[in-house]
Amino acid sequence: MSEQSLRGRCAVVTGSTSGIGLGLATRLAQAGANVMLNGMGDAAEIARIQQSLTALDVKVAYHGADMTRPTEIADLIATAEKELGAVDVLVSNAGVQHVAPVASFPDAQWERIISINLSAAFYGAKAALPGMLARGWGRIINIASVHGLVASANKSAYVAAKHGVVGLTKVIALETAETPVTCNAICPGGVLTPLVDQQIRARAKSEGKTYEAAKLELVGEKHPSKEFVTPEQLADLALFLCSPGAAQMRGQALAMDGGWTAQ
Ligand code: NAD
Repeated sequence: MSEQSLRGRCAVVTGSTSGIGLGLATRLAQAGANVMLNGMGDAAEIARIQQSLTALDVKVAYHGADMTRPTEIADLIATAEKELGAVDVLVSNAGVQHVAPVASFPDAQWERIISINLSAAFYGAKAALPGMLARGWGRIINIASVHGLVASANKSAYVAAKHGVVGLTKVIALETAETPVTCNAICPGGVLTPLVDQQIRARAKSEGKTYEAAKLELVGEKHPSKEFVTPEQLADLALFLCSPGAAQMRGQALAMDGGWTAQ
């Protein structure tokens, strides 16, 4: 894979103002892709991210589509096609979490998690596929989770959404199987991003532990490696999925999880 293997390609990464999405968008830009950023956050911070990626000599745009709103997702793809010229790579990454037992899980959190973590991947693919098929190349990469493969207590909406993403990935892969468009899912284990940082802080508080102790406990419970996965490692896998070597990789749910699902 050459360093600039995506020069001239255009990528949309949802939820790329933070964490894994930001790591993915950065790596795609380093590989030469023009990038459409998306996500919530402070306008000055988003402008700073946009500027730092533009320094990599690629076009970088931002669209604030809310992943709970299908019309805004369609507009994100249409705007990327207009401003960058195409959507060759779609990474559906935006995601949120809420932790509670089923009996007391708030309805609004269930709806929010299903719409951002699952339905947004459907609406994004629906909007991006016609252009990919017409241009004769495309990569749809859904950021699922090990929770798309196995479950944990108290994460009903998240686990249901991520299992749904893995299923959706397989269907898109079958529908595009005879074309140069592929669709795969990446299933990260624990990655120390703001989403997981919140869980560590909550655990430290409720169990009266230090942040460091709660962090080691959290990763050690699930990862035999006792180490978190990094956004950079996930971005390298996404880049491989965009390479010619991955052209016949279709409908897979690829775990990168410190050995979690090998147990
Ligand atoms: P994060 O909180 O750092 O980033 C989430 C991103 O999604 C942010 O850019 C945020 O602005 C965006 N977002 C949230 N709600 C949105 C909305 N309504 N519309 C548009 N954008 C929205 O989280 P992360 O850990 O980087 O997670 C990214 C993805 O990776 C998620 O799908 C998550 O489920 C998945 N994942 C994370 C881990 C982990 O351990 N961190 C593990 C497995 C899978």
